[in-house]
Amino acid sequence: VSVSELVEESIQQINKVEEKVKAFITVDEEKARQQAKDLDEKVGTEASSHPLFGIPSGIKDNIVTKNLVTTCASKMLENFDPIYDATVMEKLNEKGAVTIGKMNMDEFAMGSTTETSAFHPTFNPWNPEFVPGGSSGGSAAAVAAGEIMFSLGSDTGGSIRQPAAFCGVVGLKPTYGRVSRSGLVAFASSLDQIGPITRNVEDNAIVMEAIAGHDHRDSTSIDQEVPNYSAALSGDIKGLKIAVPKEYLGDGVSEASRESVLAALKVLESLGATWEEVSLPHSKYGVGTYYILTSSEASSNLARFDGVRYGYRTPNPESLDDLYKKTRAEGFGDEVKRRIMLGTFALSAGYYDAYYKKAQQVRTLIKQDFDHIFSEYDVIIGPTTPTPAYKMGEVIDDLLTMYAGDLLTIPVNLAGVPAISVPCGFTNGLPLGLQIIGNYFDEKTIYRVAHAFE
Ligand code: GLN
Repeated sequence: VSVSELVEESIQQINKVEEKVKAFITVDEEKARQQAKDLDEKVGTEASSHPLFGIPSGIKDNIVTKNLVTTCASKMLENFDPIYDATVMEKLNEKGAVTIGKMNMDEFAMGSTTETSAFHPTFNPWNPEFVPGGSSGGSAAAVAAGEIMFSLGSDTGGSIRQPAAFCGVVGLKPTYGRVSRSGLVAFASSLDQIGPITRNVEDNAIVMEAIAGHDHRDSTSIDQEVPNYSAALSGDIKGLKIAVPKEYLGDGVSEASRESVLAALKVLESLGATWEEVSLPHSKYGVGTYYILTSSEASSNLARFDGVRYGYRTPNPESLDDLYKKTRAEGFGDEVKRRIMLGTFALSAGYYDAYYKKAQQVRTLIKQDFDHIFSEYDVIIGPTTPTPAYKMGEVIDDLLTMYAGDLLTIPVNLAGVPAISVPCGFTNGLPLGLQIIGNYFDEKTIYRVAHAFE
């Protein structure tokens, strides 16, 4: 098939299901068609041999795309048309992947349901009464609904893995520093990572190979060779040592999630792996630590949205001070404001030591828990989320429950290790995810285990 045909198929599917799923913020049919035409000229050349050549994709709307509006699902950036591409976009464009559009998300990636988008919510393709998860809800839902073949999401506390779990697709949060953050609108810079969402593990490995690598424009990106991830999918996991943290099957984790993981462990055992129960004793402090640290970083990162440099500006300010105040009051949604206020408080003189500094200390303890386990085991396995997808509206006004739902994904970001979510059965017609966590820069082992399991 030609690239144009592939792109038309994708557009057709969008026309068919998008009304129900609402996964996109922007669909740029014209641009995608033009890109396809240009690529069709290259068919038969060296360029067309890359597995991503001509493949329709969607990009989370907090990753900047040149000449394609990038909103972060916020009124603040409603008309923001970037003048450059994020590094991951340059890499995908080089390989000939086609960008069909930009995916819905929680505003500035803060949320777990894609309901905080300033434009519209996204619906779970398995059942529209349920959320697709968040914050990369559009990215996961569109892949699950067959609108695109792969997408990029970002994960600060679970935002790739949790929607992947809720939508029954595969999502990887790479090691911190493995994928360049240049061109990712910052939420909490010391945790944010971009990663791929796909239908299966092999596709995921292929996209990951394309986007990973050192970038001089991101000082936290690591100069280490990118392994051939897809070559690691041997299916062989004999002798693999799995650690299962008791905290990941304990309080707050639903029966269905627990059962699905135990069933998965049986499958992995039958393939020659062994597992033992371990403990991540500080993981119970993860949620509190995470919300202090990420809100602090966000309060600083989001200071740039001042109505002067880019994005929304209040129409009739009375003074400079008034311009800042009104722009931010009108441009940001409730959840974003809540986090800015929480972060500003946590960083303020007199409270810094009690909150921010303390949280940094706990973060180190959480990291040490992981180091300790990885000195003996190859991977850590548990559920991705304590429950399947929430009903629409169920947690958005019950924030503590919503935050607590990040219990099993957050420790991974605080430590900086990589983790994947792969489909692991259903309960009441809703998908569940299995989380496989690996050691630093050991995405290869994660992929090998995930592929053997799927
Ligand atoms: N649900 C988490 C939050 O609201 C995760 C967000 C993310 O990973 N971007 O912060």
